[in-house]
Amino acid sequence: MRPEKLLIVGGTRETRAYLANALKTDYETAEAEFGEQVIEMMRAKAYSAVLLSLAGVSHEDIQSFLRRRQQDQKISGVPVVIGVNKNIDGSDITEALDAGAWDYISEEASPEAIRMRIRLALQHCDSASSQKLSFLAQYDPVTRLYNKSSLFETVEKLLEDNPGRKFAYVRFDIENFHAVNSMMGLESGDQLLCKMAKAIENYARQYDLCAYGRIEYDIFGIFIPFTPQLKKDIEASRKQLASYSMEYTLIPRFGIYIVEDPSLSAEKINTYACIAAESPQKNGAKCYSFYSEVMEQQLRRQQMLQNDMSKALKEKQFKVYLQPKYSLYHERFVGAEALVRWQHPEEGLIPPGEFIPLFEKNGMISELDYYVWETVCQLLHQWIESGNTPPQISVNVSRMDLASLQIVDKISALVRKYQVPPKYLNLEITESAYSSNPELVKAITAALRLNGFRVLMDDFGSGYSSLSMLKDINIDELKLDMRFFTGTDDGKRGEDIIVAMMHMAKWLHLPVIAEGVEKESQVELLRRAGCEYVQGFYFGKPEPVEKYERILLESASHDEENMNPVTDILDLMQLQNDMFERVLNGMALCDFDGESLNIVHANASFGKLLGRLWDHEPANAQEHYTEQIVR
Ligand code: C2E
Ligand code: MG
Ligand code: MG
Repeated sequence: MRPEKLLIVGGTRETRAYLANALKTDYETAEAEFGEQVIEMMRAKAYSAVLLSLAGVSHEDIQSFLRRRQQDQKISGVPVVIGVNKNIDGSDITEALDAGAWDYISEEASPEAIRMRIRLALQHCDSASSQKLSFLAQYDPVTRLYNKSSLFETVEKLLEDNPGRKFAYVRFDIENFHAVNSMMGLESGDQLLCKMAKAIENYARQYDLCAYGRIEYDIFGIFIPFTPQLKKDIEASRKQLASYSMEYTLIPRFGIYIVEDPSLSAEKINTYACIAAESPQKNGAKCYSFYSEVMEQQLRRQQMLQNDMSKALKEKQFKVYLQPKYSLYHERFVGAEALVRWQHPEEGLIPPGEFIPLFEKNGMISELDYYVWETVCQLLHQWIESGNTPPQISVNVSRMDLASLQIVDKISALVRKYQVPPKYLNLEITESAYSSNPELVKAITAALRLNGFRVLMDDFGSGYSSLSMLKDINIDELKLDMRFFTGTDDGKRGEDIIVAMMHMAKWLHLPVIAEGVEKESQVELLRRAGCEYVQGFYFGKPEPVEKYERILLESASHDEENMNPVTDILDLMQLQNDMFERVLNGMALCDFDGESLNIVHANASFGKLLGRLWDHEPANAQEHYTEQIVR
C-alpha cells in the first residue's frame, strides 16, 4: 500500500526539515513555504493532512487560509494540524482551532510523539468523516430534515405497516424562490429553507404517523394521515409564510395526493403530487390542488406542445389573427390588435391562452413575439407599398421581453427593416409588467415613445394597480378589460367602477379603449361614460388577416383622425373639470386601492386645507382625513 501523503508548510526551512524527518518513516512528505500556492497544492494532490507550522506566518494569513480551505469543497475534508513552539501566542492557537484546525503539536517534541499525534489526528478525522458521510446519506445538510431517499423509504414503510390508514402526501415549494435567492443572496435563501423546515417539523409532529423531508431545491414532501382539516392548515401556512419577510412576498404552491393504493411507490406518489402542484391554479386565491387524472392529461398535452415549439416556429405554424378596434365617436374601425394562434398539424388551431404561458416558462416567448411583430411589419409594409394608408396595428409585448432596454433597439430595427413608420405599430404592455418592475418598464416605455411608437397599457384592472400609478407613467392609451368588471355578481358595482375609471382617465387626458365588449348594454354604458374606443366580439372576433384587410384599409384611408384620439367627447367632463376649480371649498377626487388613498385631482383650496391640517396634527391627521374622504 502506498504511504499517505503529508504536506508540511510554514515555519522555517529547518523546522520543516525536522518535521519531515520525524514523519518520513510512516508518510510520504512534501514541504513548501507558506503562501497563496498552498491551497492550489492541496487541490492538485490528495494529501491526507497538512501540517502548518505557525512560526513566521501572520495571524491574518492563518485565518484566511483556514477559511478558504473550509469553503472549498474539494479540500475542506483535509485536516490541518498546526505546529507550534514556545514562542507562539496561546490565542493564535485557540483561534486557529476555532477556525477549523484539527489539532496542534509541539514542533519541539520527539519524532515518536510527533508521529503519534499526527496518526491520532488522522484517525479522529476518519471517524468524523464517516459519521458525516452517514449523516449526508440520510439527511439534507441545509435543513437537517430527511433527504429524498430517506423520506421515500419512510413513506413506503408507513404505508406497508398501516394498511388501513388513509394518508395524504403534500408536495410543497415556493413559486418565486429563485427570486428570493437572486434578490437576497444564497445565505438568506438557506435561512428561509431552514425556517420552512422548522415549520414543517412543528406541523407534522402533531400526527402519530408522519414523514417529512426536503426533496431538492425548495421542494419539501410531507406525509401525514389525511384529515379534512388539511385544507385549512395549508391556508394558515400561507399566512405564516407571508410573515417571514417584508421585502418579498412568498408564493407557496402545494400539490396533494391522497394515497388510495398503498402498494404505490413513494416516487409515483411524489409524481402525482407534483402534477397537482404544477397544474395551473384556476383561482389565484387558492394555493393548493389535489391530484386528478385530468391534470395528468393536461400536463401530457403541455409537454407535447413544449416538445413541438421549436419545430413549429421554424415551420411557421403560428398565424397572426386580427381583431378590429372601433371608434364609437367616428363610428368606424380604426385599427386592430394582432393575436397569435398556433395552427398545429395534428391538434388543429390552438388559442394563445394555452401555449403563451408555456413559451413564457421556457423563455421562447421572445422568439415567438418577434415572429408576430415581424409578420405585422411585413403586412404594414405591403399595405404601404400598395399605396394605402395602413391602420394602426397593435402587438402584444410579453413581460419577458421587458428584461432590458435592448427591446427598444430590436423593435426599432424591425420597423426600419420594413420601412414602416413606427406610429403604425402600437405596443401593448400588460399592466402587471409595470407593477412588477416599474423603473425598467417605465424607462422602456419612455424610450419606445421617444422612437415614435404608441404604447398601450393592456389589461388595466386585472392586477392591483391603481389609477394614481398612471400619473407617473407616460403611456398613450389605456386598455380597460370589461371582463374584469362585469361577470361579478354585482353588475351595478362593476358599471360604477368603469364610469369612475373613465372619469379619472379623462382627467389624466388618457384615451381609453375598452376590450372584451360583447353586449349592446356594454356599448351603451361605455358611450355614456365617454369611452371612445372599443374592441370585442360585439364588433368582431379575431380572424385571419384577409377577413378584415379591406375594411381596415378603407377606414384608415378615410382620414388619419384615428391617429389623434379624441379626448373631449363629453363636454360634461370639461364642465365638471371647470366646476372643480370654481368651487370655493376644498374638493378632491381620490383613488382608493383598498390600502392607500391617492389624490387624482384636487383644487387649490383642497391643497391649502391639507397643508393646514398636516401643519397642526402631523401624526395622524392624514389617516383621519383619509377615513373621512373614504366615507
Ligand atoms: P389580450 O392581449 O388582452 O388580448 C385580448 C384577448 O381577449 C384575446 O384573446 C381576444 O380574443 C379576447 N377577446 C377579445 N374580445 C373579446 C370578447 O368580447 N369576449 C371575450 N370573452 N374575449 C374577447 P386571445 O386571442 O385568446 O389572447 C389571449 C391573450 O394571449 C392575450 O390577451 C395576450 O395576453 C396573449 N397573446 C395573444 N397573442 C399574443 C402574442 O403575440 N404575444 C404575446 N406575448 N401574447 C399574446
Ligand atoms: Mg393585448
Ligand atoms: Mg388585454
